[in-house]
Amino acid sequence: MGQHRAEHRGSRRDRADRRSPSSVATPRAAGRRRATAAPRTTSLLPRLSTLATGRRPGGAAARWRHRLSVVPGALGVVALVAAGTGAVTVGEQAPGDAITASAAARAISAGTSAQGRVGQSTAGGSDREAALSRDSERQALQDAAQARLERAAEEQAAERNAELKSLGRAAEARAGEIAKNQWVLPTTGYHLTARFGMAGGLWSSDHTGLDFAAPSGTPIVAIANGTITETGYAGAYGNQTIMTLDDGTEVWFCHQTTIGVEPGDKVAAGQQIGTVGTTGNSTGPHLHLEIRPGGGDPVDPEQALAFHGLTP
Ligand SMILES: [Zn+2]
Repeated sequence: MGQHRAEHRGSRRDRADRRSPSSVATPRAAGRRRATAAPRTTSLLPRLSTLATGRRPGGAAARWRHRLSVVPGALGVVALVAAGTGAVTVGEQAPGDAITASAAARAISAGTSAQGRVGQSTAGGSDREAALSRDSERQALQDAAQARLERAAEEQAAERNAELKSLGRAAEARAGEIAKNQWVLPTTGYHLTARFGMAGGLWSSDHTGLDFAAPSGTPIVAIANGTITETGYAGAYGNQTIMTLDDGTEVWFCHQTTIGVEPGDKVAAGQQIGTVGTTGNSTGPHLHLEIRPGGGDPVDPEQALAFHGLTP
């Protein structure tokens, strides 16, 4: 292999020796194989070799300068190679010999790199186009990401709006109930054990209220909006809370374990006022509820509740 390469180099040098300086066809082709797309610089090589060996200094040198002024980027590199090559040539070759093949290769290579730099500067337009293309791709990606973010934000805003509308509707409904003074049942988890008007040994007369049996401590809530007017122990009624509605109706809550409000407190329907108990004349924990319109005689709580849409 090595031998074959040496023979090849030799033959090429022979051709270069036979060649006249103006004939540049063969080395230009050889240069293209070694380094692509450097025709302008390789075309100078024969003249370079002429310069290096001192042959034809006049017209060739003028063309040199002219060419190099056209290609300033190549000047420094090729001139540098020419200087180096001159030293090598003088030391190793006969004075009449032209530039060596390896020096030519170096010159071509150097010229190519010079041409490459020139090409880079003159090809700046396409570089800019590529950069612009990359920029527009980046911009497109950023736009797409931005669009996704905006869509997500819009969806979140829509969800929030829907939630707010739902809350608003609930508040309106609640406000409507308050405005209508909607009643609510006084406790939960109960079962009725005695109705209004029932006769029995526990009462001195017929039963004056409605009994909600529930575990001791079960919350008791106001059945409507109103004001607490009496609280405390009341004999057979045990711990008692009386609230008065806006129309003057009194609501009595009896046998409580605890009382959670004081006279004068404004309470709303559903607000806790105490807990279920078995204080007073009672055989087990339950809420005794009485309804007394205008503070007078008791009426049937079931009917009063039914009048307000409730079925205990
Ligand atoms: Zn009762």
